[in-house]
Amino acid sequence: MEAIRTYGLTKYYGKTRGIEHIDLSVQQGDFFGFIGPNGAGKSTTIRTLLGLIKANSGNAKIFGLDIAKEKEAILERIGYLPSETAFYPGMYVRDALKLSADLHRQDCREEANRLCERLQLDTGRRTDELSFGNRKKTAIVCALQHKPELLILDEPTGGLDPLMQREFFEILRERNKTGTTIFLSSHILSEIQHNCVNAAIIREGEIIASGSVAELSRTGTKRVSVRGTMDCSALSGVIDLHISQGNMDFLYSGNVQSLLRTAATGDIQDISITDPDLEEIFLHYYEKGGAEE
Ligand code: ADP
Repeated sequence: MEAIRTYGLTKYYGKTRGIEHIDLSVQQGDFFGFIGPNGAGKSTTIRTLLGLIKANSGNAKIFGLDIAKEKEAILERIGYLPSETAFYPGMYVRDALKLSADLHRQDCREEANRLCERLQLDTGRRTDELSFGNRKKTAIVCALQHKPELLILDEPTGGLDPLMQREFFEILRERNKTGTTIFLSSHILSEIQHNCVNAAIIREGEIIASGSVAELSRTGTKRVSVRGTMDCSALSGVIDLHISQGNMDFLYSGNVQSLLRTAATGDIQDISITDPDLEEIFLHYYEKGGAEE
């Protein structure tokens, strides 16, 4: 069963492109990453899914329910963490948590206490006096305390220090193990690489690649570092060439035989050919606009 399915979802803000023809499929139980640079359309997709804004065209289903027709039934089963959090002025953290629990018509005190303890969140503070990180923690508890089947998290880790980020992902992994579907949007690639099983990459409002994180990492591109010199001018597939003080460094997506033949005719003391890290690969996706190679 699919937790999320979108069909050609398109949203324009006046003439500004939000998202175009987004087709997403997220299976129930998945830990799914939605990656893209700022302004790519991640929040627009999420807000459309939640019925906070209306698509211009296309459609989507959550747990098989139509987002346009069965919004309330869907929202009952979701925990949503917005990218920017706002609370009513003068509210205490415990009030914000209670309000959120009441909206789900549940007594969540036990789980809320457990989460606050793990995230070291003081519920006796006023929300308008909180640091960005503590506001984020409050929003995290609001999204998780009613133990929803699907968590939709929009850039969740901004403002959290590294220890808190680790604790937060530990909580998510525990939830995922007990069947919760997690949809995590982020522009931080290592976050997706370390935590997600499947992912989609969005760029300028369109999905440019999707699949397992392992598959997305396997582009065939290599990083080549050379001590010495070789003539790369006739080689196709050389990207991002840097030459400095007798060293050459580049990404290579061409034929390996051609690379080795060219290297053999160069003046080389040492060469290493390695897999680039995920960060470099995704930059490549962003720049080239797809996984066509
Ligand atoms: P992301 O979440 O990936 O950073 P967004 O979905 O926020 O991207 O933005 C996608 C595009 O839609 C951007 O060009 C952004 O400027 C535009 N956009 C987002 N929200 C609005 C809005 N409320 N009004 C006008 N344009 C918007």
